[in-house]
Amino acid sequence: MVNNNQKDSSLPQWPEAAQTLMALMHAQGEVARLSEREQLFSSLLVSVNAVLWAFNWETRQVLYVSPAYERIFGRSAALLLADYNQWRDSIYPDDLEYAERSLAEVLHKGAVEDREYRIIDADGQVRWISDKCFINRQEEPGQPVIIVGIAEDITEKKQMETELQRLATTDVLTQSSNRRHFFECANREFEEARLQGAPLAFLLLDIDDFKVINDTYGHPEGDNVLQRIAECGRASLRRGDLFGRIGGEEFAAVFPGCAPDMAMQVAERLQQEIQRLSFSHGEQTFGITVSQGLTSLTPEDESLDSLFARADAAMYEAKRQGKNRIISA
Ligand code: GH3
Ligand code: MG
Ligand code: MG
Repeated sequence: MVNNNQKDSSLPQWPEAAQTLMALMHAQGEVARLSEREQLFSSLLVSVNAVLWAFNWETRQVLYVSPAYERIFGRSAALLLADYNQWRDSIYPDDLEYAERSLAEVLHKGAVEDREYRIIDADGQVRWISDKCFINRQEEPGQPVIIVGIAEDITEKKQMETELQRLATTDVLTQSSNRRHFFECANREFEEARLQGAPLAFLLLDIDDFKVINDTYGHPEGDNVLQRIAECGRASLRRGDLFGRIGGEEFAAVFPGCAPDMAMQVAERLQQEIQRLSFSHGEQTFGITVSQGLTSLTPEDESLDSLFARADAAMYEAKRQGKNRIISA
């Protein structure tokens, strides 16, 4: 008869068995937790609107790319994993040199967070990408250099920035540069001309009897006149010239690299273009004239203000002499 109290030595003792069971359950729990975590990571990677990537610098191999790559770049992730040139091929040609150089910078900087370049997506559309990258430091020396990164589509942000910039620098009515932007650019051109010892001309233009036009034909017709004058300005000026609306019915231009006689020719062309304009208001038609003051950079000019003052005085002289003329000073 077997004594119930006698232990069978071939079976694990209770405390031991319990420990094994506990260890097994713990391991199963660990596995479940790990797989839960993995599921969590992969659902995060699927839903996040950024491409996470890892790259072996030495072997030029993309080791990992998250699912958003296919959505944003419009290319196959499998092909990128097989050949890293897929990434180079997607970059807008003008930005390729920068994209590669800024990636290489991570080797000595450790992190490059202000990297932005354009790509061409599957539909042929240009998209702006912010692609931050970091060195994944290896503990052991001699380990491969792995670069990890996060690429986001910032096209909308870029478009918004461009639009904000346009709104901040443009006169709404005439779509010319506004006063602040015009003088910012004009000052830059002035400094550059002084540095290079290059010629530069400055022009002011004021519409003659504009108040009468507003009073006779109404304010909207006056607005139309301002728009047409701005169009003439843009059409008469050369590439690189600046043109802006600096006051109600006052415009200004800067001609970099332009000698005085050439500047006079541009001003005359503008004068004729404006004189040729014809406006109709109901049964009536009318034209307009302008007065212009023109001046050129001299070695004595220490700031743009002195050119502005001379052009202003010349413009008032044109008014005084009967309007519809150009006076150079
Ligand atoms: P002058 O020949 O001496 O330059 O006379 P003027 O009538 O052109 O000059 P004045 O400075 O007396 O009048 C300028 C007018 O420009 C007065 C103002 O109502 C008008 N004006 C300013 N800004 C605008 C605008 O945005 N739209 C319209 N329609 N008129 C404007
Ligand atoms: Mg005026
Ligand atoms: Mg006027």
